[in-house]
Amino acid sequence: MRYISGTPRDQTQMFPPLMDDFVAEENPVRFIDAFVDSLDMEELKFVRSEPKKTGRPGYDPKDLIKLYIYGYLNKIRSSRGLEKETHRNVELMWLMRGLKPDFKTIADFRKNNKKGIAGVFRQFTLLCKKNQLFGCELLGIDGSKFKAVNSQARNFNASRLAKVISQIEERIEDYLEKLTKQDEKEAKVQKATKKELREKIRKLTEQKEELKEAETRLKESQDSQVSLTDEDARAMRGRHGKTVGYNVQIGVDHKHKLVAAVDVNQARNDKDQLSGISLKSKENLGIEKCEVVADKGYYSHQEMAKCLDEGITPRVPPCRTRQQTSGRFTKEAFVYDRDANTYTCPNGEVLEPLKKKSSEQAKTIYKTKACKGCPLRDQCTTAKSGRQIERSAYEDQIEELERESKKKGFLQKARKGLVEHPFGVLKASFQYGSFLTKGMENVRTEMNLAALAYNMKRFFNIMGQERLMEAL
Ligand code: SF4
Repeated sequence: MRYISGTPRDQTQMFPPLMDDFVAEENPVRFIDAFVDSLDMEELKFVRSEPKKTGRPGYDPKDLIKLYIYGYLNKIRSSRGLEKETHRNVELMWLMRGLKPDFKTIADFRKNNKKGIAGVFRQFTLLCKKNQLFGCELLGIDGSKFKAVNSQARNFNASRLAKVISQIEERIEDYLEKLTKQDEKEAKVQKATKKELREKIRKLTEQKEELKEAETRLKESQDSQVSLTDEDARAMRGRHGKTVGYNVQIGVDHKHKLVAAVDVNQARNDKDQLSGISLKSKENLGIEKCEVVADKGYYSHQEMAKCLDEGITPRVPPCRTRQQTSGRFTKEAFVYDRDANTYTCPNGEVLEPLKKKSSEQAKTIYKTKACKGCPLRDQCTTAKSGRQIERSAYEDQIEELERESKKKGFLQKARKGLVEHPFGVLKASFQYGSFLTKGMENVRTEMNLAALAYNMKRFFNIMGQERLMEAL
């Protein structure tokens, strides 16, 4: 018996196969090709959207964005990885028509076309909308922490910075002392040790200079921490403990769990993020109004009021106050008198509004002097100065909203199912690793590419191979 054998490699073929023969008709790579070809690169503000009139011709930005989309769809994110694939991956050879740009060209393209890449994400969102894949009524909002190219050891606050600098100074002192002692001894045998010591001192001095520079930067900034490798990264607490990275926000549509908008910021929590990402989602979808559902981490009267002003109805469960968790009187136990603008407490005392500080225009504080001898004090507060009640400028609006949201309790269940899937897929596309680039704008571009790839994958699954080209 013989084995099945292939064509001999050195045999000339009478009808050599075409590159097109290696890619099936329904291969999604053909969709990437057709989608990118349909884009107006000049309008999307891609660098070199028009070929240069003189000099060496450059790569067409369409070819390079095709390469990136393919890469992010297949978990190949690094420029070196993409370059390697252009040499061995048949689908990419077809997509790039045999072009093999080097890794530097590939990396520079991502760095120089942040706006263009964000535009491609939006164009694809509009294509999905055209195919009725977005419901445009209910969006889930959530955030997750993604690691930056910055280890925890290279992130400092002021006190740690001062401590490390003084440790380095002590070590330099110590080495200098040793060096002096070596000098006092007869030289020859000790030459190597002296060289080693000088090298150690040089390295420590360099380290000290870097930290001193960071210390100056920290003093000049409004921030409480500084990162040395990626200056924009911040230490923040995520679900899996402390990480140095970025806070990624997404808006996910209810109908097919497609990402309507994605953003990256340095915020350590989600308290001030609701309006920003909701508005971005609404703008990307080109709609007039929608509902957004988020977890209690987003509960902020100011942010919710901003959403209402923009035609967005926020559904956010109230965040439990310290009184609620300790079993003391909650705010609901205090009755508000709208005409008199006062609260009446469970002991029948009237809490008057305090004069506002200039920094507190969005809220009013109510207090009474009667707390001192109050028999219910133990059930009310532990604060020495007595109980105080806060009322935000948007309280009426929010109260109304909360009454309505309570009736729609099911929305919170929907939120979980909505946002967890895309974040799971996005993190998996990062192979649970970190961003590859440094700086806010660059990581935002990476996230736009990842979200575009996520949406495209969903699009392929929903539309099915037969309807892909038709959809375009
Ligand atoms: S502690 Fe003050 S606010 Fe609380 S019940 Fe007593 S008087 Fe009222």
